[in-house]
Amino acid sequence: MSISKVVKDLRGRLDDKVCIITGGGSGIGFEASVLFAREGADVVVADINLKAAEATVERIKEKIGPIHVRKHAIAMKCDVSKEAEVKKVVEDTLKEFGKLDVMFNNAGIMHAHDDNVLNTDEKVWDLTMDINLKGVWFGCKYAIEAFRRKKNGGNIINTASFVGLMGAATPQLAYTASKGAVIALSRELAVTHARENIRVNALCPGPLRTPLLMNYLDTEDKINRRLVHIPIGRFGEPIEVANAALFLASDESTYITGVEFKVDGGLTAAYVTPE
Ligand code: NAD
Repeated sequence: MSISKVVKDLRGRLDDKVCIITGGGSGIGFEASVLFAREGADVVVADINLKAAEATVERIKEKIGPIHVRKHAIAMKCDVSKEAEVKKVVEDTLKEFGKLDVMFNNAGIMHAHDDNVLNTDEKVWDLTMDINLKGVWFGCKYAIEAFRRKKNGGNIINTASFVGLMGAATPQLAYTASKGAVIALSRELAVTHARENIRVNALCPGPLRTPLLMNYLDTEDKINRRLVHIPIGRFGEPIEVANAALFLASDESTYITGVEFKVDGGLTAAYVTPE
């Protein structure tokens, strides 16, 4: 086999791309960080929990073979609700790698006391909005600024949720509202920046088997209330969402912008599917 054939076969789907992944310390962000790195990207794992981000980077180093040593993964501490911290992550990324190609605004919370219209405390509402919505706005703002500076276009993926499209089975008003707003924000940015070769898509996962949701669904009853709505009959896995993010981050999706990319086991297509 010729060397050029070997090298061609080793090319990853994100070769030469620099990606920031927020919330990269756990769940979808963790899986996406490992996957993106394996596909050849330089990855900045940004998380409010620096130790978790560093553990992700260690995992990347363990998983990526020596052929990819030219690639880098670095951990950065970032609370996405703090504008200065998001700005710094983007600036530090440009200093380290010279450009930014993909901003995956994935960090998000579902507060344990998020509730219905009467019971949701204003503090819970504000914290949820600050992280889930303002954090995405800041990420888009500084990514687009970086894309413009480097004049190389760019690609933004914002993690929303199926609840932003259809509401939730159990009350979690602040979360649902924040995710609906992420979808609306993503759509507008996709349109207003399309001619700059900047793509913006909202990723809409269904319920996943991650700590975020499993901590919230803490009774059999709550779990079953969800499962009855999922045609595929199980919760999704973070890697299944990370695979979709990889497609959106890659040049395989260059004509896709402004979409709500659902990864939900058929949930949003279903009327109701009990046995
Ligand atoms: P997770 O809790 O496993 O991971 C979230 C990560 O974000 C953690 O590492 C956490 O430290 C980090 N984080 C929290 N607050 C942050 C902040 N202010 N700044 C930076 N990082 C912060 O969650 P996950 O399930 O992987 O969720 C990732 C995204 O997917 C979230 O936006 C979530 O709303 C969305 N989502 C999750 C589900 C699900 O069922 N798990 C479904 C739909 C959408």
